Amino acid sequence: MTSLLILSRRFMFATVNITNNRLTLFQGKGNLLWLPYRRTFHKCCGERGLFGGGRDNAQKQQTLEDIAKSIRERECKRVVVMAGAGISTPSGIPDFRSPGSGLYDNLQQYNLPYAEAIFEINYFHHNPKPFFALAKELYPGNYLPNLTHYFIRLLHDKGQLLRMYTQNIDGLERMAGIPPKMLVEAHGTFATATCTVCRRDYKGEELHSDIMAGTVPNCPHCKGVIKPDIVFFGEELPQHFFLYLTDFPMADLLIVMGTSLEVEPFASLAGAVRGSVPRLLINRDLVGPFAWGPPRKNDVAEIGDVVSGVKKLAEALGWMPELEALMAAQGQQVSRVKSYW
Ligand SMILES: [Zn+2]
Repeated sequence: MTSLLILSRRFMFATVNITNNRLTLFQGKGNLLWLPYRRTFHKCCGERGLFGGGRDNAQKQQTLEDIAKSIRERECKRVVVMAGAGISTPSGIPDFRSPGSGLYDNLQQYNLPYAEAIFEINYFHHNPKPFFALAKELYPGNYLPNLTHYFIRLLHDKGQLLRMYTQNIDGLERMAGIPPKMLVEAHGTFATATCTVCRRDYKGEELHSDIMAGTVPNCPHCKGVIKPDIVFFGEELPQHFFLYLTDFPMADLLIVMGTSLEVEPFASLAGAVRGSVPRLLINRDLVGPFAWGPPRKNDVAEIGDVVSGVKKLAEALGWMPELEALMAAQGQQVSRVKSYW
């Protein structure tokens, strides 16, 4: 933990890759350094990962109802939520890597060397068109938030959300009305953009007409390509990401939903809360520290359909009438203002 804090201060804009037991920090184009890395395993709490963890003091195995009670009775007022693609698929967001999905087929015309090249910065500089085809698909208005996004919004409305960390770039969290300051969009956002040449800042909506027309947006000042602030492979993490340094030690509940917890450094955040803090996984499969070794007594896993799992929690909280009212009200607002950004 200590060494990571020092590294984080020094390499504020570094990205971390972990391959072959080697942790590599990248900054800009350069490979800054690498460190030998092995997932640690603490016998006391079954904790693994980059950020370590604490001792598990709970006496009895916690349940979903216990977690609901602690939220309802406001024992938990600093909830951190981590979410991935599994909360977006119920909104119909396609997986662009899946053959047969319209988006994947659409991208084939660009002769990408492989699907992930669409998010590689060097490939983007070579050919930005496939990325903008994806951007057109994901721009606000094509998809709507679902119950999972609104549940997190309700948690915020009740003053119990400390922060939401999302891997998604579809902007559905913002459309559900979660304020940007409550979000860490770990893989970036379409809401803002930057000129790749002169680094001028732009608002996402300034690119809207170009993207909808299938045109690559150019900077009026220098004619450089304007790139939405999505984090590409080989690019620095958003500075906002480092809020985890204060958020996770302060959290009194962690909810992890719809993520495979496979992409670092996002994945290891699940181990960054204190050992006494309950962690709730709502996911199709057991993942990350929930799948490794002996579980913490205050870990709870609700395995299955993510929307059903969140709904079950909302029902246990007695929040469903409020949640449905919020979805109806915000849903009307979203459809009135197609671009909620
Ligand atoms: Zn420019």
